[in-house]
Amino acid sequence: MKKIEEEYFDKILSVLSTDEKDSLKRPIKTLYDLIDILLQRIDPKVLAKKTADISRLISLMNRYLSSAIDRNETGSKNVSLIKDELESIKVDNLTSEDLNKIQSKLVTVTHKIASEMDDINNSFRGEQQKIIQLENKVKELEEKLQKTKDENKFDFLTGTLTRRVYEKELEKFEERFVRLHQNYAIVFFDLDHFKQINDLYGHDSGDIVLKTFGTLLLKLTRETDIVGRYGGEEFIAAVLYLKKEELEGYVSRIKEIVTKYKFKLKKFNINITFSAGVELRSNSSSLEEMIKNADILLYRAKETGRNKIIFWDGTVL
Ligand code: GH3
Ligand code: MG
Ligand code: MG
Repeated sequence: MKKIEEEYFDKILSVLSTDEKDSLKRPIKTLYDLIDILLQRIDPKVLAKKTADISRLISLMNRYLSSAIDRNETGSKNVSLIKDELESIKVDNLTSEDLNKIQSKLVTVTHKIASEMDDINNSFRGEQQKIIQLENKVKELEEKLQKTKDENKFDFLTGTLTRRVYEKELEKFEERFVRLHQNYAIVFFDLDHFKQINDLYGHDSGDIVLKTFGTLLLKLTRETDIVGRYGGEEFIAAVLYLKKEELEGYVSRIKEIVTKYKFKLKKFNINITFSAGVELRSNSSSLEEMIKNADILLYRAKETGRNKIIFWDGTVL
């Protein structure tokens, strides 16, 4: 079993050998707590066995103090003296008398280090306070930055993804399609006669309709799928429904809820309809072609009377 003194020796060595950058700040307290305990318990026999370690200890303390001198220009006089004393300790060909001398020298030196380090520690405390303040500032800025990022992610009026973010997310669907053959569909939505809403009830009422429509779309779309504002009163969803019935279920739920919803505009309760085109990725040779096809289907829905959803195979809901 390791003698307890040896353990302390090892600990001191490891504290002194830590990374230079932190070697002054963090381990000071640990260091002299350990040295204090070591000196109370030290047994000359252990010291004799540990000649090599003592020599390392002394040289590490020297390095430690050199770095203290570098960092603390004003209060470094005492540290220099301690350093000189340490350098005068020789560890070759030790007799037990030498060991006693070393032991008592270590005691003196350690006490001096302790008081010098107290001073250094106090000045560090001031520095630390500044560092903490700076860290808090950085944290605050990071939070602000994150908030700005979030704000740019979602369209401010409807809460759906902005077009830029939506397109980025869509690339992920595309990547999974190419790499894992995971099919997906997109749905193009466009509110019917929306211009009339603005004209009849005012732009702010138009905004209410857009906001409500966006909220309904988000509520009715799964978390794995995405909804974005393509522009004006046009929205686009990318969904991972694979079966046509599932897709039909999804868009018809939206149609039912939106068309039944009474939008409160001024003093009126207004019904709104939308048209949509639905295209499957596997029907097209590229993402761009799929979007174009969905747009064509949407246009057909408009041309043939609005308030309808047209699928790639001609199904109309
Ligand atoms: P259609 O059924 O053919 O789609 O007709 P529409 O009137 O919906 O389409 P049109 O493209 O003629 O008009 C879209 C209108 O949407 C025109 C524009 O002023 C309005 N709009 C676009 N963005 C906003 C917005 O953020 N708020 C409001 N209130 N109106 C908007
Ligand atoms: Mg439009
Ligand atoms: Mg429209």
